[in-house]
Amino acid sequence: MTSTCLACRRRDTPDEHHLCPLCVGDLRDWLAEIPDQARLLAEFVAPGGRQPAGRHGGTGRAHAPAPVDLRVLTLLGPGRYDPVPGSDDDGTAPLLAVLDAWAGHIAYHHPAVTRDPHGTAHVRPCEQAWPAAGATVTGWCAWLTAYLPYALTLPVAGDLHRQIGDLVQRLRGLTHSAPRDHPQAAPCPRCDTFALVRTDGQWGIRCRACGHHLEPAAYDEHAAAFLHTHQTTTAHGTAA
Ligand SMILES: [Zn+2]
Ligand SMILES: [Zn+2]
Repeated sequence: MTSTCLACRRRDTPDEHHLCPLCVGDLRDWLAEIPDQARLLAEFVAPGGRQPAGRHGGTGRAHAPAPVDLRVLTLLGPGRYDPVPGSDDDGTAPLLAVLDAWAGHIAYHHPAVTRDPHGTAHVRPCEQAWPAAGATVTGWCAWLTAYLPYALTLPVAGDLHRQIGDLVQRLRGLTHSAPRDHPQAAPCPRCDTFALVRTDGQWGIRCRACGHHLEPAAYDEHAAAFLHTHQTTTAHGTAA
């Protein structure tokens, strides 16, 4: 059964999902980008004395400290956040609190199987999300990426997409840095469009037309085969 994507409201979704493959691709990319953006932002507010001494010869503070933007402190600060359902991010929620709250919400809906002392299995919601990499920005982003296939089946998937997207926009607005897309030479093996891109800081290759994901090795193989076919066709064309 297909339905309309809750994020873009343009494309159909496969199976029981609430997001289309392209919007899922956005989420995956954003969750990969957020830890880097957060690191960049943290460098702005690190006291000069704690910055790596190497480049500046260890003479302490190399630059006069810039006045710290209050928005940066808020974003990196502690705090609580209640994300769902339908609540609007007023642009002041701390990064860690938003990620933590979403993981908590997804975990609450994720069924966990426990056994009582008599060995009977009970299915109940997970009580809490435990990020394997720790309750850090990186840890929560890894957790949310791992649970993305499940999160897509929840009706709040559209809110998740919007709020994580807002977070990324806030981060990019403050760091003035956004990853760049690099177009690839071969067309998408799924939709045949010349829309494959490699994005800075990300490992895989993504089709901007259909959301198809390729691992680098798979792309290289596909590109070599495409080039071979292309050359063969051209050679025959010339001979004829
Ligand atoms: Zn969509
Ligand atoms: Zn495609």
